[in-house]
Amino acid sequence: MIARPRTNWAGNVAFAAPEFRRPSTVPELQAAVARAGRVRVLGTGHSFNDMADSPGAQVSVAGLPPEVSVDSVARVARVAAGLSYAELAARLDAHGFALRNLASLPHISVAGATATATHGSGAANQNLAAAVAGLTLVTADGDLVELTRADGAVVHLGALGAVVRLDLELVPSFDVSQRVYEDLPLDTLDDHFADVMASGYSVSLFTDWRAPRLTQVWIKQRLDAPAPAGPEASWFTATPAPAARNPVPGASPDACTQQLGVPGRWYDRLPHFRPGLRPSAGDELQSEYLLPVAHAIPALHALNEIRARLAPALRICEIRLIAADRLWLSTCYRQDSVAFHFTWIADPAAVLPVVTLLERQLAPFAPRPHWGKVFTTPPEDLRARYERLPDFLDLMRRFDPAGKFRNAYTARYLTG
Ligand SMILES: Cc1cc2nc3c(=O)[nH]c(=O)nc-3n(C[C@H](O)[C@H](O)[C@H](O)COP(=O)(O)OP(=O)(O)OC[C@H]3O[C@@H](n4cnc5c(N)ncnc54)[C@H](O)[C@@H]3O)c2cc1C
Repeated sequence: MIARPRTNWAGNVAFAAPEFRRPSTVPELQAAVARAGRVRVLGTGHSFNDMADSPGAQVSVAGLPPEVSVDSVARVARVAAGLSYAELAARLDAHGFALRNLASLPHISVAGATATATHGSGAANQNLAAAVAGLTLVTADGDLVELTRADGAVVHLGALGAVVRLDLELVPSFDVSQRVYEDLPLDTLDDHFADVMASGYSVSLFTDWRAPRLTQVWIKQRLDAPAPAGPEASWFTATPAPAARNPVPGASPDACTQQLGVPGRWYDRLPHFRPGLRPSAGDELQSEYLLPVAHAIPALHALNEIRARLAPALRICEIRLIAADRLWLSTCYRQDSVAFHFTWIADPAAVLPVVTLLERQLAPFAPRPHWGKVFTTPPEDLRARYERLPDFLDLMRRFDPAGKFRNAYTARYLTG
């Protein structure tokens, strides 16, 4: 047995699982799952809650062979579940292929990210799970099951089995440049939200809520797409940042991907943070809420009303768009969504009351909290926001009749 990770990435969850396994082959993993009374898989541990913890065994898939095979004709890659996007991306690019989008950091595992509907930004870009064309998982009795086009099983929160391989849809590789603009009054969005969000392939708005303004706007532009309208210097009333920036106030831009319009490969520009360095603030908690994009402006106004309460607990807030999908437990299930993300200070006592206040403020818009972040939404409210949850519970019973893959998190939010 190997020493187990004691906490998640943020350090706010101490794993209580009494046993940790890191098999190096799929048959070893099958045997470990078959033997276990209760089991959960740990990805790279970047979730901010107890979803990856287990009352029995916690199993990592990071030791499985890091295989990637590309079918250039079908434009699909079969990839080992434990690979991080950083490890995967350059290998896809070497074959001339890309993923449509990436999250703000490439450090996370493909299986862990897709299990929670992790997303990047872009009005036309779906979340990362939407690229999953198939998955192979070890079910409770240790069998290997292959699923294709399984809308119900892709965002699974670790509750169906241990995913060992994923089939990801690819697109031809592409180049991207990114520019950062500073200081845009919040009320610009009242009339121009759609224009601002359409000004790049992927757009992120940042505010510290210390004033009614966006501190930064990050625009990632595909070089094979038409350039954004208007000359760079007159981009609304914001000004181009004269040097590289980190969206988190006070954090070093060295951890960030290259800006200032320098072209680069998709995987070197779509994430905000570079692999190999600590992303974001490092010392932080995170929450995020996704709601129908039609409510973006009323929701922004609702947040602006409480900005004096948000700001002291906040490092930075990011606003992104994600296109609708058909994945049952996706936070974007059948709705084009706006996501309000909050990088908080690492002080749960200060942060949690603000999280609850924020949830009250956004409640009229029925937000779906990011499955992998900090939230205090009452479980019955959360469950009511997923119309296919009963179907997912059927899948859970089918794949795992004895509840081997259940934990406190699934009891709270899924089974009730
Ligand atoms: C600095 C930072 C920035 C972030 N930025 C973004 C962002 O831009 N967009 C966004 O949407 N989210 C973001 N997140 C959240 C992050 O993407 C999710 O929490 C994601 O799930 C982390 O992946 P992981 O591999 O660390 O998963 P873990 O936290 O290890 O696991 C998450 C869940 O997946 C399950 N799981 C993992 N691997 C498997 C497997 N092989 N088989 C079965 N179940 C499995 C676990 O049991 C658990 O339930 C960020 C997090 C951090 C720390």
